[in-house]
Amino acid sequence: MTKPIVAITECRDYSTPSILKAIEKIVDSAGFPDVKNKTVLLKPNILSGSSPEKAVTTHPQLVRAVIRLVSARGASRILVGDSPGVGSPDMAGKKSGIKAAVLEEGAEWTLFTESIRLLAPEGKKQNQFYPAKQLEEADVLISLPKMKTHEMMYYTGAIKNLFGMIPGLKKSRFHLNYPQKEDFAALIVDLFQALKPSYAIMDGISAMEGSGPGSGTPIDVGLLMGSANLLALDWATATIMGYDCMKIPILKDALERGAWLERPDEITYPLLDPEDLIINDYERVKILKDTGFIKKIVPQRVYGFIRDLYVPRPFFSSKKCIGCGECVRICPARALTLKGKGKEARVLIDYKLCIRCYCCHEVCPVEAIRIGRL
Ligand code: SF4
Ligand code: SF4
Repeated sequence: MTKPIVAITECRDYSTPSILKAIEKIVDSAGFPDVKNKTVLLKPNILSGSSPEKAVTTHPQLVRAVIRLVSARGASRILVGDSPGVGSPDMAGKKSGIKAAVLEEGAEWTLFTESIRLLAPEGKKQNQFYPAKQLEEADVLISLPKMKTHEMMYYTGAIKNLFGMIPGLKKSRFHLNYPQKEDFAALIVDLFQALKPSYAIMDGISAMEGSGPGSGTPIDVGLLMGSANLLALDWATATIMGYDCMKIPILKDALERGAWLERPDEITYPLLDPEDLIINDYERVKILKDTGFIKKIVPQRVYGFIRDLYVPRPFFSSKKCIGCGECVRICPARALTLKGKGKEARVLIDYKLCIRCYCCHEVCPVEAIRIGRL
C-alpha cells in the first residue's frame, strides 16, 4: 500500500515561479517517484478545448511546471496526452493551451487514439480495459487532475481523471453498461487499480464549482496538492470542497477495497490540513439517495415516473444550441436527435431512453444543456 501522505500548499497564481515553488514544497513533503532515465506519461484533464480561465481543463502552466520538475529529475522521455470528450485530442490540446506548453518545454505531445489491452484481474466490473497505447511505453504514469464538481459522480479528481486514458467514444459504452452511479464508480476504481498510477498533482489554484465538469463556474481556491496515493489526495480535495467523502461513490468504493487506505484517518498531512481549509459555501452537486432499490420493487413504468421526478435530467435550450451535434455523437443511449441546422437547430430527447449519464452536458460547447428537474 502506498503511504497516504498528502501535501497541500497555497499557490495563488499560475505564474511559473509560484507553481514551481509550490510543487517543490509538495514533493519534498509527500515524496515523488523515481523518474531518472524513465519514460513518464503525464495525464492532465483536457475535457474539451476550453480556455484555461474556464477551469474546465488542467491549467497549461501546471503541466509546464510538472514537465520541468520531471525533466530536472532526469526523465529520459516525457509524454503528455488525453482523450477529450469533445472534438479531436489535438484541437482540444491547442485550445486549452496545453499542447503549446508541452512543445515549449520540449516534451512530446501525444494523441490517445490507439489502444492496448490491459488486464484488470482484481476488477469488480471489468477484467480488462483498452487504454491508450502510450501506457505501454511509460514507466511512470502521473495524473494531473483539475479540482471540479461533476453532475454524475459529484466530484472529479485524480482517480476519475484516469477515465480519459480510454480513447475516444469507447468511454461512453461504459456509461451504457453501468448506468447506476455505484456500478460506474466501481468500474472507474477497476481502471485505477489496473493502471497503477504513481503520483498525482491536483490543480486547485482555480477550481470549478456548480454544474461541473464542463459548465460550472471557476472559483479561486489557491491550492496545489500532491500525493503518491490518489485516493488519499481525492479524499483531501473532496473534503476541502465540503463533501462527505463516503457519499462520493468512487471514493467510497475505493476505500472499501482497502487497497489504498484502510481508514481516512491514516492520511498524514505534512503541510496544510484539509479540515482547516473546508469551503462551506462551495457550490457542490447535490448528493442523491440511491434509487436502485426502488427500481427493483416497482414496475418499470412507475419507476420511470419516479425517476423523472427525483433524478435530474438534461434539458436543451434551442436558443443557445448551435447545432454542433456533439451531444448526439456522445450519447451512449442514442436518446438524442438533432433537427435543423445553425440557428434553427434543436435537439430532441427521448427521456425513456436517457440513462442520466450527463455526457451530453459535459460536451456541449455553449452551455445549451441544463441538468435539473422539471
Ligand atoms: S441524453 Fe445525455 S444524459 Fe441522457 S443518456 Fe444521452 S448523454 Fe446521457
Ligand atoms: S445542445 Fe450543445 S452539444 Fe448539443 S447540438 Fe446543441 S450546441 Fe451542440
